Amino acid sequence: MGVVRLTQIDGKLPNLALMRLSAFHRARGDEIRFTRSVYRHLDEPSYDAVYGSAIFQFSSDRVERLRAEFPDAIIGGTGTRSAFTVEQLPGFAESGFDYSLYPGFEASIGFSQRGCRLSCKFCVVPWKEGKPRAEATIAQIWRGEPHPKHIHLLDNDFFGAPGWQDRIEEIRAGGYKVCFNQGINVRKIDEEVAAALARIEYRDDQFRRRRLYCAWDNLKDEETFFRGVDILEAHGIPPRHLMAFMLIGFAKGETWERIHYRFRRMTERGILPYPMVFDIRATDPERYRRLKAFQRWVNTGLYRAGIPFEEYDVNRRRGDGPDERQGNLFRFNY
Ligand code: SF4
Repeated sequence: MGVVRLTQIDGKLPNLALMRLSAFHRARGDEIRFTRSVYRHLDEPSYDAVYGSAIFQFSSDRVERLRAEFPDAIIGGTGTRSAFTVEQLPGFAESGFDYSLYPGFEASIGFSQRGCRLSCKFCVVPWKEGKPRAEATIAQIWRGEPHPKHIHLLDNDFFGAPGWQDRIEEIRAGGYKVCFNQGINVRKIDEEVAAALARIEYRDDQFRRRRLYCAWDNLKDEETFFRGVDILEAHGIPPRHLMAFMLIGFAKGETWERIHYRFRRMTERGILPYPMVFDIRATDPERYRRLKAFQRWVNTGLYRAGIPFEEYDVNRRRGDGPDERQGNLFRFNY
């Protein structure tokens, strides 16, 4: 029996890897200390094992801090370059997930599939997970009564994996509400997928509103993106149910005119845009600051109150941090 430190370095949602590690160590009789702090506090014991998980690459400073405080720490996750995964631990598959780390969290969370059919340049998923494959059924992800049938799906390409039709039927027949947390791939929408989505209770990450998350990152995808939007609408999913992440600050030769064009095209259709700023603080801090101001202008809804961005930007704030929504952005290549 030992004492184990589990460190959630970033992310608001429960961390599946840490939940697995917790279950794994508890089954061996270890005591678990769960924390979000990367600093060693004075009253902490000496540990038999220290783990850290980072999802976002902008957390590199916090990763290094944890490593400095605990040089033997095992640190993994999308936000690190570590190849360590909990799957490497013997006996991990039987250990399950320990939700007791997150006492206020009522929903269930998991992957019905891993991998993605596409390979966007800025994304880590193809590199980390490869081509789509099935992972779990909805019934396996739900933790059962008395928990609500609210499922956070972390899938990056739900409709890319074999057997997705069975998962849809499971969601529908089982009365589940699902949040496609990582978004659906509008560029790959066809009639069958749109009809399937229209049959289920998709929700936002609070399980309150009808919401599908998606993305329009490149201007060149305009036609494919709106083709997907049109197909969804034809099947009864109105554009106002869509929140579209729009990556800004990444494309070579991107101009303000092009950014505003993407933004306008979406708002004219009733889609809710959500700008995600690529982390260019090191290479172009002034542009990064303006892009963050644009993000705030959009997300606070000031454009709906008729306040032009130029006026808003004059009264901007300074000292922006990175964008927590950019979970899959792969900074190391650029
Ligand atoms: S950004 Fe989305 S669609 Fe593109 S490779 Fe990553 S997971 Fe797939």
